[in-house]
Amino acid sequence: MNIVLTLVTFLLMAPVRAAEWPAACLASEPVQVVIRNDDICALSQVDWERKLLAVFRAEQIPLSVGVIPAIAADTRYKPEAKRHPLGEDDAIVRLYAQAAQEGWVDLLQHGYDHQQNASHAGMAPAKSSEFSALPLAEQQARIQRGRQLLQQAFGVTAQVFVPPWNNADGHTDLALENLGFQGLSDTRLWRFSATGKQPIPSRMIYFDQLDETLEQWYRQGQCQGRLPPETVVILYHSWEDYNDEGPKRLQGYLQRLKDSGVKITTISQALGLIPDRQLEEKTVVLQ
Ligand SMILES: [Zn+2]
Repeated sequence: MNIVLTLVTFLLMAPVRAAEWPAACLASEPVQVVIRNDDICALSQVDWERKLLAVFRAEQIPLSVGVIPAIAADTRYKPEAKRHPLGEDDAIVRLYAQAAQEGWVDLLQHGYDHQQNASHAGMAPAKSSEFSALPLAEQQARIQRGRQLLQQAFGVTAQVFVPPWNNADGHTDLALENLGFQGLSDTRLWRFSATGKQPIPSRMIYFDQLDETLEQWYRQGQCQGRLPPETVVILYHSWEDYNDEGPKRLQGYLQRLKDSGVKITTISQALGLIPDRQLEEKTVVLQ
């Protein structure tokens, strides 16, 4: 009896195993995946970032990174909170600048200070915003100031904007168009053109929804037919993996992605802003 109970308990506790997917089944499908790591900033912990970035490098998986130009010490509405410009942490700047120069990390602008504005004070993260409800001039000034800080740190002009909490409004779109941004990544991907903001067939998920997404694509384990084109952006926060299990957890997800054969790209590539590039074969020591 005890053995049966133990076995039942074990089975109930065992994680659900995803179906076995035919190797590289997705390789010829018009679907692709992007990993977007938000919240890199002057308060990121460079030792952990180095370890996690090394996992992407080892798996040869490209990464899009939302960089906060001047993180607020408190992201709740606290106008008096100290701001930390990216340049305060030279080690973080060097780490990501090098990966970007190697061509496998895509640098995006993630807001300005990532703090709730007055009209979102006290709101839960899902409803928070740094930008929504602010006047156009103020939004534009914040975005421009942030872009200049990133330019000073990395020597590149950000072309894609990622609003904190994925929340922005029509004034944000106008500000981005006025400043000549090419793209926007919130819960979908958007490309700015002469005719305005155009959606790219896309959606956003988290890593814990990866198996479910792969199941949808594989259609119950069968490799059949053509899928409609889409780009799935996996929203990742490396700070959640600042623990001893973090790099292993990440490596497991990346391995599943690779095993599926799906094309893994960056947001700038998905938006057609830069041509597809293969990861460089050479090994470069992260500093
Ligand atoms: Zn964020």
